[in-house]
Amino acid sequence: MSRLFLVVVIFIAIYLLLKYYRKQLPKEDVPGEDASKQRENMVRCAHCGVHLPKGESIMLDHKHYCSEAHRREHIDEPE
Ligand SMILES: [Zn+2]
Repeated sequence: MSRLFLVVVIFIAIYLLLKYYRKQLPKEDVPGEDASKQRENMVRCAHCGVHLPKGESIMLDHKHYCSEAHRREHIDEPE
C-alpha cells in the first residue's frame, strides 16, 4: 500500500515539474523583444557619438546629446 502511495507521489511530482517547465518556456522569447524595443529608444550623441537611452539624452534642433556639456561644446564648434 505504501509503495502505491510512493508511485502516486512520484507521478504528481513529475506532473508538477512538467507544468513548471512549460510555464518557464514562453519567457525565453521575451528578452529578444525587449532588446529590440531598447534599441529603438537608443540615440547617439551628436558630439561624441556615445549611445544612450533617449530619455537620458538632451535634445536640441533634432540632435541628441549625452550631457549638457557636450550640447554646449557642439554649438561652440559645429561640424
Ligand atoms: Zn557626448
